[in-house]
Amino acid sequence: MANAKALEFTIERNSAPVEANERAKLLENPGFGNLFTDHMVVIRWSENLGWHDANIKKRGPIQMNPASSVLHYAQEIFEGMKAYRLADGSTALFRPEENAKRFQASARRMAMPELPVEVFLQSVEKLVEIDRDWFPSVDGGSLYLRPFMFASEVFLGVRPAKEYLYMVIASPAGEYFKSGATAVTIWVSEDYSRAAPGGTGAAKCGGNYAASLVAQAEAIEQHCDQVVFLDAAERRWVEELGGMNLFFVMDDGKLITPPLSGTILPGITRESIIVLAREEGLEVSEEPYSIEQWRGDATSGKLVETFACGTAAVVTSVGMVKSRHGEFTIGSGGPGQLTEKLKSRLVDIQRGLSEDRHDWVKRL
Ligand code: PMP
Repeated sequence: MANAKALEFTIERNSAPVEANERAKLLENPGFGNLFTDHMVVIRWSENLGWHDANIKKRGPIQMNPASSVLHYAQEIFEGMKAYRLADGSTALFRPEENAKRFQASARRMAMPELPVEVFLQSVEKLVEIDRDWFPSVDGGSLYLRPFMFASEVFLGVRPAKEYLYMVIASPAGEYFKSGATAVTIWVSEDYSRAAPGGTGAAKCGGNYAASLVAQAEAIEQHCDQVVFLDAAERRWVEELGGMNLFFVMDDGKLITPPLSGTILPGITRESIIVLAREEGLEVSEEPYSIEQWRGDATSGKLVETFACGTAAVVTSVGMVKSRHGEFTIGSGGPGQLTEKLKSRLVDIQRGLSEDRHDWVKRL
């Protein structure tokens, strides 16, 4: 009875899907986050019925009552994951149970109901299946999946809502960074922090991203690709980027990554990289690393590479770090050797090109 918690889905096919030629054209240059498939998943939760009314239907607008509580108090969480087309033409997900579990952890933090792992998996798998013609034709392309849940109860009192909507949409994706950049430049946010102890930093809730945007806007103004946040208490310890975790590569081959202290998102790419790096015989230490250490080690040459990682951009070298106190370059300022090696180890597993020793790839 492994599927005891699985739901019955009603499937209503889109009767006017995007026409094949037009779709093919769109898929030649999908970009990131602009293009969406023909269908979506909708599941409801209410205090009385629990999870019910699971549907796959034509993707389209949803009706919202202006008093829906998410519009006022931001009780919302989401996930980000990718489906890949493998060399043999089959499709696969990468460690989807980890996304399902993180979605549950985010729900707990935001006082929302937990979607059973089995239902989460069903929902993404069914959407990939029905929209399987939407994989981009470009190199490095994938089908980005966005499961999310929000408080749909029509009520303005401040308390956990009693009704929620869970949905999944899918977006064909190419490169995350516009330039397809080989090394990114990042801006140190000195005025704004992302998450405080006891806050929601480890949850994937929309509010965290809303709070990060002013810092991201500052980064763009400073001609940087991304913002890096420091800890809220001392403004000293390097935490993570707006949407990626960080690794520091030392000249003796040791890797350092900030610990999961509750203020950063436990990235699935981060965890996978730790496993792969250890397999390569590297020492990986989850320890606090300060902005002064970063600057000092980059300048002395003790730090040879820095990379950011996450589902959307996979693994990307950080070439330069800028702040109001000046800037510093890491290594040559270009892509790092070890970064590239770990990236290909990961991508090859994700694409079914190398042995999947850890059973990370779930073929559909
Ligand atoms: N940190 C933040 C703030 C993120 O939004 C993401 C993307 N989910 C990550 C790190 C990387 O997580 P993952 O490797 O699971 O995509």
